[in-house]
This record gives sequence, structure tokens and C-alpha cells, in this order.
Amino acid sequence: MHFPFRHVDRTKIDKIASIMYETNYVQLVGTIAGIEVLGERSSKRLRALLKDDSGEIELVWFQSIQWIQKIIQEGSKYLVFGKAGMFNNKPQITHPEIEICQPELTTTKFLEPVYPTTEKLKAKGLSAKQIAKLTGTLLAQVSEKEIAENLPYNIIEKLKLVNRFHAITAVHFPKTQEQYEAALHRLKFEELFFAQVRMRMIRGQRHRRSKGVLFEKVGNYFNSFYNNYLPFKLTNAQKRVVKEIRSDTAKGHQMNRLLQGDVGSGKTIVALLIMLLAADNGYQSCFMAPTEILSQQHYNNLKNLLSGTSVEIRLLTGSTKKAERKLILNELKNRTLHFLVGTHAVIEEAVQFKNLGLVIIDEQHRFGVAQRAKLWSKAVVLPHILVMTATPIPRTLAMTAYGDLDYSIINELPPGRQPVITVHRFETKRMAVMEFVRSEIAKGRQAFFVYPLIEESEKLSYENLEEGYKQVKSFFPEHLYSLSMLHGKMHAQQKEENMQRFKEGKTQILVGTTVIEVGIDIPNASVMVIESAEKFGLSQLHQLRGRVGRGNDKSYCILLTPYKLGNEAKERLKIMCATNDGFKIAEKDLELRGPGEIEGTKQSGMLNFKLASIVNDKDLLDVAKYYAEQILKDDEELIKPENSVLKMYLLSQKGKISWSTIS
Ligand code: ADP
Ligand code: MG
Repeated sequence: MHFPFRHVDRTKIDKIASIMYETNYVQLVGTIAGIEVLGERSSKRLRALLKDDSGEIELVWFQSIQWIQKIIQEGSKYLVFGKAGMFNNKPQITHPEIEICQPELTTTKFLEPVYPTTEKLKAKGLSAKQIAKLTGTLLAQVSEKEIAENLPYNIIEKLKLVNRFHAITAVHFPKTQEQYEAALHRLKFEELFFAQVRMRMIRGQRHRRSKGVLFEKVGNYFNSFYNNYLPFKLTNAQKRVVKEIRSDTAKGHQMNRLLQGDVGSGKTIVALLIMLLAADNGYQSCFMAPTEILSQQHYNNLKNLLSGTSVEIRLLTGSTKKAERKLILNELKNRTLHFLVGTHAVIEEAVQFKNLGLVIIDEQHRFGVAQRAKLWSKAVVLPHILVMTATPIPRTLAMTAYGDLDYSIINELPPGRQPVITVHRFETKRMAVMEFVRSEIAKGRQAFFVYPLIEESEKLSYENLEEGYKQVKSFFPEHLYSLSMLHGKMHAQQKEENMQRFKEGKTQILVGTTVIEVGIDIPNASVMVIESAEKFGLSQLHQLRGRVGRGNDKSYCILLTPYKLGNEAKERLKIMCATNDGFKIAEKDLELRGPGEIEGTKQSGMLNFKLASIVNDKDLLDVAKYYAEQILKDDEELIKPENSVLKMYLLSQKGKISWSTIS
């Protein structure tokens, strides 16, 4: 299962004369003419001339000079492979692979595998070539019995897959390119399919084994709110999600659900409806937010929505007074309190509920869903858990990394929302940008200026921000404008105060680092200026942009950058200007950065596919998911004879991969 990353066709020999500027890798056969060592110390290099009947090319080594000198001889014929380039108008290969040209090597057609290896392995005699040799020897000795089929016959037949033995043989030693591709396809499918089967089984087991509280009926709290107090019509997506959750909480197992919805898609009202459902069934709910200010915001919002109803709701945070806290704890114990809103920290402490049935975690954009869910696992009967995230997770990533969680998606924004107008401006146009911000403030709006966090150094971040603050101030002098600043070095309380002042409209401009990205709701803010926007990741930019466009006014996001930009940065800015759709942005992010780089996935261990890629093999992932679903729907314990191959294989793999990290 150590697979080659490419194959070399030894019969495909290029002519030296055919090498051009755009030529990439070439394979040449020729005679070594002159060998000489040039230069001193760091510029020391070995140069050899390789000639064939069409021309000559320079081969250059900067390292391992002594060793190369030993293995190459003037006048002998060599097989050379490497990336050709032009240097001083002459073709050249630096550090080519080189070996004595044995006639049978270049006349019998076969694709030679090239394996990934490391310097350490090489030193122990496991170079790419030796791995190829060992693999060849091994494969010659195993039979079809020893590499048994692990997919049910009907799948193989329907998808026209190569059988497992042939696939493994051919992925190492294919006779033709077509054969290699067929083998690769089969093995990629197998990887994706088993990952899906495993996760579905984990999920199925959780559903069957976990006991959860039962929300069987829809009662007065829900109905009276829905009919009399709902301030708007739910979107179709919201309705669908409420139904999904309702059906999940009525089954007797514990719900462990991730609710994804872009910024402003209306997750809060969904949470509230489910909380009312809990109340209808005699259960209390707890709503947690990451910061004090957000808890306050949620509390005010929920309290407003519930005014007129008989639902009791309270806020508990670090700044709740002692007497009030005591009162709340009492109300929780004697069941007179329905909903408790608070920060994670406060609620994670020993707060005793009489009858906790539902926990809502407004995680905003953080991952780490599973860990949070574990907090509550000590309870005898588990409350249902709904984690809400505003960072859309790409579909393929959700399927592979979170396939064992249940998830719901709100993929629709409430009607009438105006998309934030996003533009990219070079720093040379700063004057015009400031003029624009001034005109917005003149209309009574507010603006954000965000500076990047410098990861290596908090001090540098701070200096950078100070610089920026001064600069903004020079455009918006203090006797005419009021500004506030927000940065990581501030005390939490000071941060909240500054934030609060901005929220209440006491300051017009907020200058800060990314700390403002968490879900603060300031409908009057209409401009988001992001300084050094090229330094931000896509999901961060999208999160920041989500801080504006929450009111009825047209809102703007201005991405400022220097003139010189890398290709990937250009690509990110382009997509930001082109779309407001968080899901599209998340897909692009995945494409640009790869799954391993997406926040939170590194530890998951779910994405360690050897051959398949969730970026390049999306379609195959869908097929794999479809078949995994079909099979388990019909036979969830895999006891039918036609599925015994699956079961056997899964058992044989048990313990080889750690799937527990995510559950
Ligand atoms: P988020 O998903 O980002 O948490 P919120 O729940 O804060 O979004 O909702 C954003 C805003 O949209 C709120 O002001 C809320 O009242 C409003 N809203 C939510 N659902 C609807 C809807 N169906 N129709 C109109 N407005 C809605
Ligand atoms: Mg929210």
C-alpha cells in the first residue's frame, strides 16, 4: 500500500534537439562526453555533456559531486531523466536521475514505478528504485487469494471496477497508461467508499445506542410563538432545518448536530424554535456563545422575541452579580427557568439544571464541534446538542471529516438582503477610499478598519495596528470624529467596552485586528476596510465582510493591498469580489489550500487518503457515498451474505486506523 507517485516509460526516449523553452520532464539516452568540476566552494559544480544523434545537453550537479563522479564515465551510454531548462540559451538539466543504459530497459515496454522516499530511507538502502524492486518481488509472490476482493460483487459490476488483486498489481506495475488509470480509479473508490461506510456505521451505532431525551410533542410554547410572535416568514431552508431537527429529537436517541449557515442566514430563530419545542416537552435549554458581548446580544434578541410569551429566560455570564447568580441557579433547580443564555465558560462550570434537554452552542466559525459536545456526556440522559457555525464547510469536507455527525444546512438568506459590495483597491488609492468612508460616515453610518494579526509576534501586530490607527486618525481627526481601537493585548473587559461603545454608536470608526470577527451585530456599520487584505485567508475575509450588510443600507467591503501580489492572493481577492456565497468561498478555499490546511481538519485523521483527494475526486466521492448509503440502508449490520466481504475487510482493518479521534 505504498504507492508510486509516477511512472516512467523507459521506451519513450526524447531527442535532445527537441528540447525547447516550454519543455518539462524529458528522458534521454546518450553518451557522456566531457566531465569537469567548475567553480569554488558554494559555486562548485560538476558539469557533464550528454550527446545523442540529434544534439547535446549539459547535465549539472551542485551536490553529491564526488558520488556522481564515481558513477559516470566518459564514453558510456546512460539513461537520463530530469526537468529540462534553458540556461544561456543552451539546454540543461540540473540534478538529473542517471543510470547506465541497459538495452533491455529501453526496449521492453513497461511503466516503471517511482516511489516516494526520504533521505533517511535512502541511507538505509530504500531508494525509490529499491522500493520498486522489493514491491516487484513481493507482488510476484502473492496470488489473488492473498489480496482478496473487499467490495461486493454488484458494485464491482455496476461500476465496472477492476478486481482488487489486479488493481493493486497494476497500480504499481501497469502495462499501459489505461491500465494504470483503471487501477487507480478502483483503489480511490475503495478508499472513499470504506471511509463512508465506516462513518455511517459509527453514526448508526451512536443512534442506536445513545439514549436521548424525547421531544415527542409540539405544544403551546411552540405553536403560540409560531403563530403569534414570529416576526417574519421563515425561509424554506429554515423550515426544512426545523423539520430535520424536530424529527431527530423525536427518535429517542441523542441528537448531535452541526447547523451550518452563512452569516445572517438566520440560525438564531431556528435555535429558538427548537428551544420552545424543548419547553413543550418539559425540558430546559441552554444557549452558549463564545463571548460576553455575544451572549448579551443573543439574550437581548431572544428576550425581545419572547416578550409577550410566558417563557422565562435569563443571562448568566462572568459579570452576573452574585445575588442574581444565586437566583438563577435556584430557578434552574426548581424548573421555573426555561432558557439560560451565557458564555461557554460560565455554563461549563457547575451549573445544575433540573431538566436540561437541549444545548445550543453558537460556535460562530470555530470547528472543534465534537470536543464541545463531550462536555455534556457526563449527564445520565444526554441533552440534544446543536452546534451552530457560520463558516460554511465545503460539502466534500463535511462528508469526509464530519460524516459521523448529523448536519443541517441553511443555504438560503432571508429575502431582501442586499449583498455587500466588495472591491479591491491598491494602497495607492487610499485617499479615494478614505473619502468614500468619510461620505458614508456623513450619512450617519459607521466603519471598521481591520489590520492583520502578525502571527509570529503580538508586539509586531500591535505596532502595526498603532501605525494604522495613527494613519486612520490623520484622515479622521479627533475633534471631528470619534474612534475606538480593539486589539489582542487589551483586557477582555476593555475590549468589550470599546466594542460596546461602537455598537451603541458612540464611536464612528472601529480600528482593530481580527478580534472583531466574531458574530457581533452592528446594523449601522456599512463599511469594512481590510488593510493588507492579501494576508488574510478566504474564510477570514468572508467572516470579516459578514460584519457589515446586516442593516437595510447598502454596505461595502474594501480590500486594500499593495500593488505586488502573489497568484494565490490574487485568486482570493478575485473570488471575494465575485461572490458573497460562503459555500462557494469555502469550496475555493479548499481548492487553493488543500484539505489538510483547513482549520481543524489536521487532527481529524479522516482525510488521510493515500490516493483519493476530496478536491479532485469529488464525483467519485458522491458515488462512494451513494453506494455506502444504499448498502447500509438495506443492511445496517452488514449481515447479508453479499455484504460479508465488506464486513470481513472492516474487521481485518480494525485497529489499523484510528477513527476514534473524531467521534
Ligand atoms: P446568523 O445565522 O448569522 O446567526 P441571525 O440569526 O443573527 O443570523 O439572523 C440575522 C438577521 O436576519 C436577524 O436580524 C434576524 O432577525 C433576521 N432573520 C432571520 N430569519 C429571517 C427571515 N426568515 N426573514 C427575515 N429576516 C430574518
Ligand atoms: Mg449568529
